[in-house]
Amino acid sequence: MDALVLNDVRKSYGNREAVHGISLTVREGEIFGLIGHNGAGKTTTLRMISTLLRITSGSISVYGHDVTTEPDEVRKIISYLPEDAGAYKDLTGRAYLEFMASFFASGDEKRAMVQKGIDIADLGDRIDSKVDTYSKGMMRRLLIARAIMPSPKLAIMDEVTSGLDVINAYEIRDVIRSIARSGVTVVMSSHNMFEVDMLCDRVGMIDQGNLILLGTPSDLKREYGVDTLEEVFVKAVKG
Ligand code: ATP
Repeated sequence: MDALVLNDVRKSYGNREAVHGISLTVREGEIFGLIGHNGAGKTTTLRMISTLLRITSGSISVYGHDVTTEPDEVRKIISYLPEDAGAYKDLTGRAYLEFMASFFASGDEKRAMVQKGIDIADLGDRIDSKVDTYSKGMMRRLLIARAIMPSPKLAIMDEVTSGLDVINAYEIRDVIRSIARSGVTVVMSSHNMFEVDMLCDRVGMIDQGNLILLGTPSDLKREYGVDTLEEVFVKAVKG
């Protein structure tokens, strides 16, 4: 089944078009990576998929629901984790997950959801420390737990490992793999070509608002006759 279909999607800010007619399909259970240099249009695209930004023209459907005409249906089955997301600093990690879970469930269902979040965050006894004592890596784990505990069908993550050290980034990639293994479709952006190569089933590259490449990392490397996705990126942008 197609989890996500973008059909000739355009977005203008005022009279300047930032996304110029992107079309792509993401299959259920895939980890799909959006790459592109700063200002290419990745966040704009992710925010349109997440119903947070109105599309100027074209269409986006998430598991068959149109983001423009059925935004509430889309919101029920997605989670969006922005790059600059934060949590309430005066709460403990556990209290934050409990607070967020209360928007989705109550009673036993809520308790199970919070436990799922605690398991994903995997912060040990620091789950009972205040969020303002967390490192960047711990905070990111908590936010991923928050995004995944309501069991979305599509998880959208913007630069989820940016600024993290090697171990934290490695562990978060592991969390993303296990999310996908459990059947959740993942659409993520990243500037880390090594990460995208390791993690993503397919990749779309945006350059100045245009989708210029689409394929599996290995197909793209073969097509460009290079060993790394980084070289594909440079060749595609610089020619
Ligand atoms: P980065 O990797 O730096 O996060 P990006 O690929 O996510 O970049 P976007 O944030 O989607 O890029 O921005 C795409 C273009 O749209 C840029 O030229 C940016 O300046 C412009 N843009 C983004 N948000 C707005 C806005 N609210 N108003 C006007 N222009 C905007």
